[in-house]
Amino acid sequence: MTVVKVLVASRIHEKGIEILRNAGAEVLKAEEPPEEELIKLIKGVHGLIVRSKPVVSRRVIEAADSLVVIGRAGVGVDNIDLEAAKAKGIEVLTSPEATTQSVAELTIGLMIAVARKIAFCDRKIRAGEWPKKHAVGMELYGKTLGIVGAGRIGSAVARIAKLGLGMNIVYYDVARNPKLEEELGAKYLPLLDELLRVADVVSLHVPLTESTKYLINEERLKLMKKSAILINTARGPIVDTKALVKALKEGWIAGAGLDVYEEEPLPPDHPLTRLENVVLTAHIGASTEEAQERAGIDIAKKVVDYFRARGLLG
Ligand code: NAD
Repeated sequence: MTVVKVLVASRIHEKGIEILRNAGAEVLKAEEPPEEELIKLIKGVHGLIVRSKPVVSRRVIEAADSLVVIGRAGVGVDNIDLEAAKAKGIEVLTSPEATTQSVAELTIGLMIAVARKIAFCDRKIRAGEWPKKHAVGMELYGKTLGIVGAGRIGSAVARIAKLGLGMNIVYYDVARNPKLEEELGAKYLPLLDELLRVADVVSLHVPLTESTKYLINEERLKLMKKSAILINTARGPIVDTKALVKALKEGWIAGAGLDVYEEEPLPPDHPLTRLENVVLTAHIGASTEEAQERAGIDIAKKVVDYFRARGLLG
């Protein structure tokens, strides 16, 4: 029997690696290799495991001569060319539940950090200032949270916001979520523009697709309340960054909390880094011990099961 080779091209939890090895797979490791390197590494490999990086482009997939399965430790497959994979009959597996709670908790953290100017105060105090007068914030209790994309993460955020903070929930999605309506009294708004007009906090949880690219653009930012906060822990290109910078500078909205960017890493001199009303994190939504352990174990098991079902692993 040929030895099954799995390339783990992003750091996954050691317990995931153990599962692959214990099942008899040969594990090759790389750390988010750039396209040209991945094109070389992919040769002779049967399984590939990634996180939100590296990019598994059409060129990478076309260069693969033995690849049958790609495992994504986490959720969001916008770094994988799904059409190219499908055309070659390569299965793409995900571990969508593993990171939900961690991303939801970060989202709430960003909401509070922006509303209460936590990062702003921290920066000022470290610079020797006492910013009390300039740090009057907004209470979240009783405010309206607009969830854009009420799937796993959007629902988890809504739950914490409603049950923990006493916020009212409205949501926009291509599909209705009856459970959220029953459980939290969430109100479905069929038009995104309506949500943007009424929400005090807008939180984005849609996947990045052709239809969600620049979903939040200049026109839509102008619909938001001047006192509103925008949170993006989904994907950078869902928001038109240039328009957002303008909105934050010119006071169309009050603030933003961002974990994801159109360009990652965010360049050091990026205009966002010079704005006081923004809290920035470094795409750390799923970066907790717990989420990474769950995602690593889950995706490794799924990849092993995939090979076992085809008689390629014992
Ligand atoms: P999910 O599939 O459970 O939910 C997505 C929701 O968006 C679904 O309810 C879907 O119906 C809705 N939707 C899809 N396209 C839409 C559109 N065009 N308009 C309106 N609604 C639309 O996904 P999830 O597990 O909640 O994850 C959401 C996203 O979060 C992922 O796709 C990923 O990009 C992002 N994410 C970020 C991090 C991070 O580190 N910051 C970690 C995990 C996931």
